[in-house]
Amino acid sequence: MTVTKSDTKLLKNYINGQWVESNSSESLEVPNPATGEILARVPISTKEDLDKAVKAADTAFQKWKHVPVPKRARIMFKFHYLLTEHHEELAKLVVQENGKAFNEAYGEIQRGIECVEFASGAPTHLMGETLSNIAEDIDSEMFRYPLGVVGGITPFNFPMMVPLWMFPLAIVCGNTFILKPSERTPILANRLAELLTEAGLPNGVFNIVHGAHDVVNGLLEHEDIKAISFVGSQPVAKYVYENAALNGKRVQALSGAKNHHIVMPDADIEKAVQNVISSTFGSAGQRCMACSAVVVVGENDQFVEKLRKKADELTIGNGLDDEVLLTPIIRDSHRQKVLGYIEKGIEEGADLIRDGRSEMSELTDGNFLGATIFDYVTPNMTIARDEIFAPVLSILRAEDLSEGLEYIRKSRYGNGATLYTKSAQAVRQFREEADAGMLGINVGVPATMAFFPFSGWKDSFYGDLHVNGKDGINFYTRKKMITSRYDY
Ligand code: NAD
Repeated sequence: MTVTKSDTKLLKNYINGQWVESNSSESLEVPNPATGEILARVPISTKEDLDKAVKAADTAFQKWKHVPVPKRARIMFKFHYLLTEHHEELAKLVVQENGKAFNEAYGEIQRGIECVEFASGAPTHLMGETLSNIAEDIDSEMFRYPLGVVGGITPFNFPMMVPLWMFPLAIVCGNTFILKPSERTPILANRLAELLTEAGLPNGVFNIVHGAHDVVNGLLEHEDIKAISFVGSQPVAKYVYENAALNGKRVQALSGAKNHHIVMPDADIEKAVQNVISSTFGSAGQRCMACSAVVVVGENDQFVEKLRKKADELTIGNGLDDEVLLTPIIRDSHRQKVLGYIEKGIEEGADLIRDGRSEMSELTDGNFLGATIFDYVTPNMTIARDEIFAPVLSILRAEDLSEGLEYIRKSRYGNGATLYTKSAQAVRQFREEADAGMLGINVGVPATMAFFPFSGWKDSFYGDLHVNGKDGINFYTRKKMITSRYDY
């Protein structure tokens, strides 16, 4: 399914297995960021819309929690098959609504499919623990149970992968789910609901309520919602964490990032340049694992010069065209904010060695911005501190690895960090001292796979249990202990 002009309709919510119109008269356009074409309109649903979904999910939960775990897993197997069958179609939808390059979108669909693969192992993941003879004639057992209705609130930059970090695991654990997709990329979610229905998921187990703040606040306040998974920007993550907790909910809130890549003097320059380029400028820098600050250790002007030259060679354009790496920014309003950051960088004295603003005039339909690079950025500058979430790179200079690690330590964010080196000693120092949750050694995007936990440290994450892996299972279940005496 590709979205064409005739589909510029108002999206519906998906509640209890039905496509339902929102009560709201308010809606937003969903433009293709590369062309400006309006793909659809998304309703800004109300708390009443959400109430209907919560009621349906709560009713469905009463039955779904009793469905045997292997049966739940079998639905995930079928869903996995359908996602694989529709891989290319789903990737094209992501390109249209998000703007990223087709190969990036294809990879994103794959990451989502891997989450379903992991969830399909539910019978193993949900096993409890036992110990006989904890005292004379007494045994202890631990069983896992679902929480109830859980909510997921997701960002625009991964319309497939991020929702799939959440709902497959939540559902196989026996919960029912309400997704509030990003209002900027809401289309793919509806296609996923169709495929889940085709996979045989009972009505009410998975629901979608489109919208913005009202639906989010409704999810945070509703007494029948037991847990919230959130991924998005830092101020909203903190707000969601605090308010969900205030209302007694379990919460995991993944937040913003400023990821540093340290280039040591012994690094393979060609490979480091290639990695930094694709990490920084892929998806127009709109990835939580994107490199946004490079720390060059020593007098390595050769690295900086090669990086600048490579940035000159990048093809900018529509993600559906071949060879394109630099794709549009999600909205012009965000691009305007980014232009403000570029002005700020100049004002604060950084050296603008590549000005991507000059490429904006060539592609006027979409929200494009060319690769922008600042050199001699210092850690206190605004462009070094803030998450810009765009194709804008800051280069900082450091005397040695310890100084580079100090920059990472001082950053309020700690999502990811990478080191380029051949030295085992430097690797060990980096591993022990880098103040971030996901590290890369000669790897540009050190995103973990579905069987490992994914998340950062410091202001990049609020909560305890991360998404995916065993953390994901623990987040979506609660444990019950049985102590039994047999000498009665
Ligand atoms: P965003 O915070 O604007 O939106 C995320 C969600 O929150 C959306 O569903 C949105 O509707 C809702 N929301 C936004 N403002 C709100 C408000 N004031 N009150 C209530 N709800 C609100 O984030 P975005 O721009 O869609 O996504 C980009 C951000 O997400 C970046 O900061 C990026 O680093 C982060 N992100 C983090 C990770 C991670 O793993 N840490 C992964 C992907 C994206």
